[in-house]
Amino acid sequence: MTVVTRFAPSPTGLLHIGGARTALYNWLFAKHHAEYGTGGRFLLRIEDTDRKRHAEDAVEAIYDGLSWLGLNWDGEAISQFTRAERHAEIARQLLDEGKAYHCYCTPEELNEMREAARAEGRKMMYDGRWRDRDPADAPAGVDPVIRLKAPQDGETIIQDLVQGEVKVDNGQLDDMILLRGDGTPTYMLAVVVDDHDMEVSHVIRGDDHLNNAFRQTQIYRGLGWDIPAFAHIPLIHGADGAKMGKRHGALGIDAYRDQGFLPEAICNYLLRLGWSHGDDEIISRDEAVEWFSLEAIGRGAARFDADKLTNLNGHYIRQSEDSRLVDLVIPLLALSLKGTLDEGAESRLIKGMAGLKERAKTLPELAESAEIYAMTRPLRLNEKADQLVQGVGRDHLDSLRGRLTDVGDWNHEALENAVRAYADSADIKLGKAAQPLRAALTGRTVSPSIFEVIEILGRDEVLGRLDDVLKDL
Ligand code: GLU
Repeated sequence: MTVVTRFAPSPTGLLHIGGARTALYNWLFAKHHAEYGTGGRFLLRIEDTDRKRHAEDAVEAIYDGLSWLGLNWDGEAISQFTRAERHAEIARQLLDEGKAYHCYCTPEELNEMREAARAEGRKMMYDGRWRDRDPADAPAGVDPVIRLKAPQDGETIIQDLVQGEVKVDNGQLDDMILLRGDGTPTYMLAVVVDDHDMEVSHVIRGDDHLNNAFRQTQIYRGLGWDIPAFAHIPLIHGADGAKMGKRHGALGIDAYRDQGFLPEAICNYLLRLGWSHGDDEIISRDEAVEWFSLEAIGRGAARFDADKLTNLNGHYIRQSEDSRLVDLVIPLLALSLKGTLDEGAESRLIKGMAGLKERAKTLPELAESAEIYAMTRPLRLNEKADQLVQGVGRDHLDSLRGRLTDVGDWNHEALENAVRAYADSADIKLGKAAQPLRAALTGRTVSPSIFEVIEILGRDEVLGRLDDVLKDL
């Protein structure tokens, strides 16, 4: 059997972190079956029937977010709105088969039912007054809705792959509307018809949709269609245990991208947030495809932990190709350095990236540390660095300039030897010579190995930066 999953976001805003996790699980489940089973496809359906809240840029945000995360979908994305005629056709089919009926209730009648329910402290239920009534009784001038003739006895039971068996008394569910008086389909009908037509085998989504699954099951039964397997994933909660909201970092995926997170870090984090494979924390995309199963999805609500995400991001930065990181930091450098990137910046960044990436947990942090290779002369020294190039520091720099000028082979080792030889002759610790050098050459007191920095900056730039400092004093 080919596994078919789908991600079905409503384009009402951003692709948020919970939606991204749902998409990831659907993608992984399909890919797992494509590579290790008998076939798998991951489909995208935009649930854009709410035209009042519909925004084209929200659809774009979904496409962009999924693409950035590497969650490519098979075939064209499907617009639910464009399928309204097909949904209506199915409602009429149920009507013809006697599985649904016209209901001519007026807004006033429904209001009365609502008021009565409120007075009795129960939820509003349509009382089924048109269920068996002769359509000849239909009042003039009312556009009827089509309602499902839902079972009134027994239970609707779902064998959920995450939640286990869940059931509801059919007496709790009224005859839901399938087609409105204006001929537009309801959400519940649209989802069922689309999932059926798309041949979806597994519906994997947030457990806020569990209640919908009962009603959807009733529609499937009415139609005599196969019911997909359901897997309702517990929602993400914030670190304080409350449902995830903005204050917990429930941002759009684009905000994480702007904050300097890598897509693979986000995916790894979201994977572990609700699914586990032993104690493994770092899981590559390939491993995730191999190992993913619905059984290993946790039943408890997962808690979002921004520090964990940041640490994972550091890991994936260290794993990244240097050239990719250079491409990612150059736009950030252009911003922080106001467009004044030094001519040799790019080639120095390539050489220096291996050392730089060891320390950064986000791309802005990486860009900040990379400034040492991109700034144009003369450097502006920060306060601490400025102190280190005064007084005795300056004397060391003066002498070191001479020593460095004499270095023949401009490489890491020769440079270190030259600085060491100077420290020995001046009877000072290596650090006492290295500190003012770092301050003068980078404008700061923290950097990768100073000898590596000197080698990468190159002779002309190093002597130039030293002269700027010596001249200034
Ligand atoms: N459109 C729904 C949402 O964005 C998802 C519906 C479904 O997955 O069945 O929450």
